[in-house]
Amino acid sequence: MLTVKKTSNNPYLLLTPGPLTTTDTVKQAMLKDWCTWDDEYNALVNSIRHRLVRLAAPEHTEEYTAVLMQGSGSFSVEAVLGTALPRQGGKLAVAVNGAYGERMVEMAKVLGIPVTAVRFDEREAVCPAVFEEALMKDPSITHAAIVHCETTTGILNPLQGLSDAVRHQGKTLIVDAMSSFGGVPLDMHELGIDYLISSSNKCIQGVPGFGFVLARISCLAACKGNARSLSLDLYDQWDIMERMNGKWRYTSPTHVVRAFDQALIELEEEGGVNSRYHRYRGNQQQLVQGMKEAGFSTLLPEEWHSPIITSFRYPEDDFSFSEFYSRLKAEGFVLYPGKLTSVPTFRIGTIGDVHASDMEELIGIVKRLKAANGEK
Ligand SMILES: *Cc1c(COP(=O)(O)O)cnc(C)c1O
Repeated sequence: MLTVKKTSNNPYLLLTPGPLTTTDTVKQAMLKDWCTWDDEYNALVNSIRHRLVRLAAPEHTEEYTAVLMQGSGSFSVEAVLGTALPRQGGKLAVAVNGAYGERMVEMAKVLGIPVTAVRFDEREAVCPAVFEEALMKDPSITHAAIVHCETTTGILNPLQGLSDAVRHQGKTLIVDAMSSFGGVPLDMHELGIDYLISSSNKCIQGVPGFGFVLARISCLAACKGNARSLSLDLYDQWDIMERMNGKWRYTSPTHVVRAFDQALIELEEEGGVNSRYHRYRGNQQQLVQGMKEAGFSTLLPEEWHSPIITSFRYPEDDFSFSEFYSRLKAEGFVLYPGKLTSVPTFRIGTIGDVHASDMEELIGIVKRLKAANGEK
């Protein structure tokens, strides 16, 4: 039986890490032909920028700025790498334990930025001491990049330990917090983060269309002329947004921005990042418990689980994920395939407008499907 939520506009809930399930009110914000050039719109953009800075560094808002950038989250990551690293004499170190760390290495290579990958097993969290050792050994490294929640597996990397390590070594710290910002509490000033990247369609619960970068103003202000790309010049995008009161350089995703504004209002109404974190964590714990009862096991030990997304092993060798996927989709839930090469897994996200009752319904269906399969 379908719930009211799913029949209102949508045939299913997205248990995927972005795009994810949004509220009807977020979707409704897009049902107008919003204009792009006027003062009202630019003021809304600036208000969003200020609210993002308040979320990221509530006690030190004057030291940070937010820059919105068209495209998916990767475009913003690429904009940071291509703008933050100087044209001469810069070198990037990336802590890699999944596809998103690997993507930053690839980006640096394409951009012609000298890069060192410090690789870890995909099924383990990045070790701060090992990363620090790599930074210490190579004094030519100027910037260090880490992924907070590695969405590949759902590992939550130890942000405090890693940021301490990077700070000890005096490197500029870049954090891909794409899938955690807004859903896991963090303070970029306390952590000493110089650039933090996220996007509209993750834990803020907006729709896809732009990414955003929270930057220490003193760092970004020194990056004029560094960019290897015109469209992805983070400095220039910031400069225009600052000087022209919230104007984007090129066509902005107006509808997505309106939806994002509504999503920020709803984040506040929910009680802020702490409340959202508790809901996501509750979803995730309920999910793991129920999936275990249904005969599934998680890829990772519990200590590394994030509240964002969880990887489950195939329960038996002849398990057909595509069949499981189609059955669940027909019943109103869309899951996510695995991304590991070494172990067959699938993933279930627990972010977005999903709640305990949704988890309960999902688990009931999974148990029924699993039991029916066992009888065959
Ligand atoms: C979603 C995500 C990205 C960006 O992916 P896009 O497909 O470009 O939006 C980057 N890093 C992490 C950790 C992510 O979860």
